[in-house]
Amino acid sequence: NRIQGQPSSYNKKQDYTFGKTLGAGAFGVVRQARDNATKENYAIKIILKKTLNGNEKMIMDEISVLSKLHHKHIVGFKDFFESKDKFFLVTQLATGGELFDRIIEKTKFKEADAARVIYQILSATEYIHDKDIVHRDIKPENVLYLTRDEDSPIVLADFGVAKQLRTPDQIIVNQAGSFGYAAPEVLVGVGYGKPCDIWSIGIITYTVLCGFSPVRSESVDNFLEEVTAEKWVIFYEQYWKDVSLEARQFIVSMLQIDQNQRPTAKDLLKHPWITSNIKEDRGAD
Ligand code: ADP
Ligand code: MG
Repeated sequence: NRIQGQPSSYNKKQDYTFGKTLGAGAFGVVRQARDNATKENYAIKIILKKTLNGNEKMIMDEISVLSKLHHKHIVGFKDFFESKDKFFLVTQLATGGELFDRIIEKTKFKEADAARVIYQILSATEYIHDKDIVHRDIKPENVLYLTRDEDSPIVLADFGVAKQLRTPDQIIVNQAGSFGYAAPEVLVGVGYGKPCDIWSIGIITYTVLCGFSPVRSESVDNFLEEVTAEKWVIFYEQYWKDVSLEARQFIVSMLQIDQNQRPTAKDLLKHPWITSNIKEDRGAD
């Protein structure tokens, strides 16, 4: 069923039946879609070429990173194709919604539940960091539950601004990420690397344990001032009195302003707060 003179990929859209919208992104929408041949459901990120205007490399980078990742806590890559005016990125379907929505629903997580989520994010992060890939936009909107179950596994998604480093210590200078989750060194522009992902996971850990962010500032300038204080992470007694000291120490270690002082994902997976709450094996397949 190939039209002469056109790349086969131009017809691939017909291989899927498109369903409901799952989410909206910066360059288009993500829709559920069924593979007509296998009847399997997937998520397809649909990007309008005209909204990219000149930034085609961004989507190509996302594909090149995602297509080489195989881990049970990273959204699986299936296919990539295009039509005249759109790109289509087909990935494993996560039907359980965003971590973002669960935080809003539950307000806060019990420590064991929080540790289970953070463990999975750390295991995905350890895996990409071993490949010298920095995600750069780890936040609750980009962490997805595979099913609606309370204890559903999660996957890390959205490699839209992920960076493949040429060497493990390559320094990145251009800004990326989201205010509130981005590390100070990313916003200052002094050069950064893998530890920026650890900061973001620290922000998420604090947030899931008490229901609000440790960042009180609403502008970059105020934020940079806020995090320079000696003890900037504040555990308000009212909200933290029932949370273990181990959890607090775990968070403080990740939210150090000096990126070189932060533990790696590998170190954090061995932290007592994780090991005492988790009895699961590793995710690489
Ligand atoms: P953007 O780079 O524009 O933020 P994302 O890849 O984060 O795009 O997708 C936007 C939103 O679409 C996500 O936050 C999520 O709600 C939904 N989404 C993305 N991928 C999937 C997927 N594989 N399964 C289910 N929902 C998804
Ligand atoms: Mg996103």
